[in-house]
Amino acid sequence: MYDYLIVGSGLYGAVCARLLADSGRRVRVVERRSHIGGNVFTEEREGIVIHSYGAHIFHCSNQEIWDFVNRFASFRPFVNRPVSISGGKLYSLPFNMFTFNQLWGVTSPDEARAIIEQERLVLDREPRNLEEQALSMVGKTIYDLLIRGYTTKQWQRDPKELPPWIIKRLPLRFTYDNNYFNDTYQGIPDGGYTKLIQGLLRDIKVDTSVDFLNSRTELAAQAKHVIYTGALDEFFGYDLGVLEYRGLRFEHDRFESENVLGNAVINYGDEDVPYTRRIEHRHFSPTNSTVSIVSREYPTAWRPGDIPFYPVNSPHNETLHRKYCERIAEFKNYHIGGRLADYRYYDMHQVVGAAMKFARSLTTG
Ligand code: FAD
Ligand code: UDP
Repeated sequence: MYDYLIVGSGLYGAVCARLLADSGRRVRVVERRSHIGGNVFTEEREGIVIHSYGAHIFHCSNQEIWDFVNRFASFRPFVNRPVSISGGKLYSLPFNMFTFNQLWGVTSPDEARAIIEQERLVLDREPRNLEEQALSMVGKTIYDLLIRGYTTKQWQRDPKELPPWIIKRLPLRFTYDNNYFNDTYQGIPDGGYTKLIQGLLRDIKVDTSVDFLNSRTELAAQAKHVIYTGALDEFFGYDLGVLEYRGLRFEHDRFESENVLGNAVINYGDEDVPYTRRIEHRHFSPTNSTVSIVSREYPTAWRPGDIPFYPVNSPHNETLHRKYCERIAEFKNYHIGGRLADYRYYDMHQVVGAAMKFARSLTTG
């Protein structure tokens, strides 16, 4: 008999498992994939740490979260400085003085501000969608070159149909600072994220290739509580409807070279280039390997059964998710959390922070 059965060995499940086990609770984790870690899973190939589900850079400004993850893996400093290729030219990201210089030849913040000010969409209300938000933030040139094509590919819909906050993830700076994130701490676990997850799950019973939904009655009967980090619509057999996700497909190329892209991440702004990003894994973590593996990231239509990557937080999906939340609340010994169950576009630090808060509420309450 366990105190907690945790469904999913992603970051949310692994952090909950660690904190509950440390407070003396008996914990078991079940994971449907053949490996632990969910989407942060990394594996080594030819001496290179591969981010199997896309580039993952840990960033946060919260000391407690940073200290916590550093207990389980040693983080190597890494600053994400992606570039974007659009219309055959290369631009610095996020939107910063290097970008403005590449676009307009300007060298001072005042010159850059003046151009953006001229181009900006001025609204007497809050922007209602991603296009309005982007146009009012950076103006038409940047929107057309670096945002519209990328966003349309990524989400397979018109940016007018997307919420404004998605584009607010990208900083706009009038300095020569091309760090993609604004956070105090940034890094990648030495040896990859699987090491971090292994550290979190040390000495905890974990069974991979076990789908909770295939034998839920029997599995749930073994524990007083279930922490479910999977998708809620799937839990209920989609009976109220399907929550939409965006899917991804990765294609990997191997090169007899130690440097193919010259950078860890390259974004592709043109809509007719079918992938959004290429990542050269060896630039994330030092390696002695003499080869390189480069992955292309293709956005795909998602269907139930595929790995869900990005929730599509449209008003319809939000309403549906709320209905599923109301239903699961009736299951008194079930708790939910993480990117899937909450149906939120969380970064890793947000998932870790939420799991820490939740697990503590159980152990101190
Ligand atoms: P998941 O990792 O999805 O884990 C849920 C687990 O539950 C999965 O392993 C799943 O298989 C398992 N599961 C589901 N249903 C069942 C079931 N029925 N039975 C058993 N197991 C089940 N964040 C950053 O901070 N920085 C980044 O650079 C970054 N890059 C990203 C890039 C991409 C392409 C994507 C998609 C996300 C990125 N993220 C990044 C976000 C990050 O991946 C997530 O915040 C984090 O992985 C979420 O962890 P989770 O545990 O909530 O979910
Ligand atoms: N985005 C863009 N151009 C880029 C990078 C991002 O238009 O070169 C937009 C796009 O809509 C994307 C959003 O900004 O979905 C957030 O980007 P981020 O890099 O944070 O996305 P993630 O890493 O989560 O895929």
